Amino acid sequence: MKIKDIKTYIVSQKLDNNTRFCYSQAWYNSRTIMILEIICDDGIIGWGEAFGNSFINQSVVENVYKPYLIGKNPFDSEKHWDDLYNMLRDNGQKGSCIEALSAIDNALWDIKGKYTHLPVYTLLGGARRDKIMPYATGLYRNSLDQDPKDLVREALRYKEAGFRAIKTKIGFGIKEDIKLVEQLRLALGDEIELMVDANHAYNSMSAIKVARGIEKFNIAWFEEPVPPEDIEGYKEVRANTIIPISGGEAEFTQYGFNNFINNRCVDILQPDCCVTGGLSAFRRITTLAKIANIQVYPHVWGSAIAVAVGINACFYQPNYPEALVTPKVYFELDRTENIFREELNLDKLQIDDGYIYKKEVEGLGFNINRKLIEKYQIG
Ligand code: MG
Repeated sequence: MKIKDIKTYIVSQKLDNNTRFCYSQAWYNSRTIMILEIICDDGIIGWGEAFGNSFINQSVVENVYKPYLIGKNPFDSEKHWDDLYNMLRDNGQKGSCIEALSAIDNALWDIKGKYTHLPVYTLLGGARRDKIMPYATGLYRNSLDQDPKDLVREALRYKEAGFRAIKTKIGFGIKEDIKLVEQLRLALGDEIELMVDANHAYNSMSAIKVARGIEKFNIAWFEEPVPPEDIEGYKEVRANTIIPISGGEAEFTQYGFNNFINNRCVDILQPDCCVTGGLSAFRRITTLAKIANIQVYPHVWGSAIAVAVGINACFYQPNYPEALVTPKVYFELDRTENIFREELNLDKLQIDDGYIYKKEVEGLGFNINRKLIEKYQIG
């Protein structure tokens, strides 16, 4: 079997009614992604998605990765990863070159699964669990001075929808963050797990003040308190709070995570399989995490392809630490408006009793909606 062609698509949709939302770093008024299909000479097709700037990612695939891959065997994927990484190693050890590589790598896993009629989580090494727990990622803002009551109402909707855990955005000021978390905990009660995500809006001292202020509200984790480059800051925050610290969605490949892990920056690693070098890099990162005895819950934020990739990652990932009773695995489910998450897979995501159950799929496990791609393609 040989790779015959690779096609890239940039799809984009403006948010409904010209609305927009923000987190601590940026505003969104549209959803744009770069997806690709790798077509083999026997007709098997694999799909992948790259997080980040779609136009740069497309250019890397079209101009650098695609000419190398045409005519190659998709089962040599580990070799292809090394060759493609090395091709741009001097120019792109992090960022778009690796995001584009993620799309390629995940599409190759999809092909290998379809060829062998096996789920990707089985090919990765086997599912460690039968169910994973989705948590609602939401509580973004429509204005910088938004009334916390609006966010509390949104959180209650997630609770009513059956979510057992909810993650809120913070990073809008120390006092404001603490007040919001207090109101959320009061409204949600004790049975709902609550996480906070600052998207690296703080330095270590401010992050410690936030952490100390919200410790009493039983927080499952404090995500990206400081910028990803601030290794010492991560260590200071982690040493000064009892809240587990998480991060890694802005870190890349086994090389980047090796540094992050060896410095004991976090209690919970959050590699994104559409960012960090695909499922191949994710598997290497889970090995490093297992050696260091650090928990992994992947970051997921994208289309239905990213959701399928993340689900396979969550079923596969090893337990940390091993025991008869191991911690449940959380699956990040973004709740902001995104037609590509909701409709790019013609098979709807099924959540039963607050869990996603393992299914015997072939490949990554989705049924692509080509009409949606045709309708929203801009590049
Ligand atoms: Mg995050």
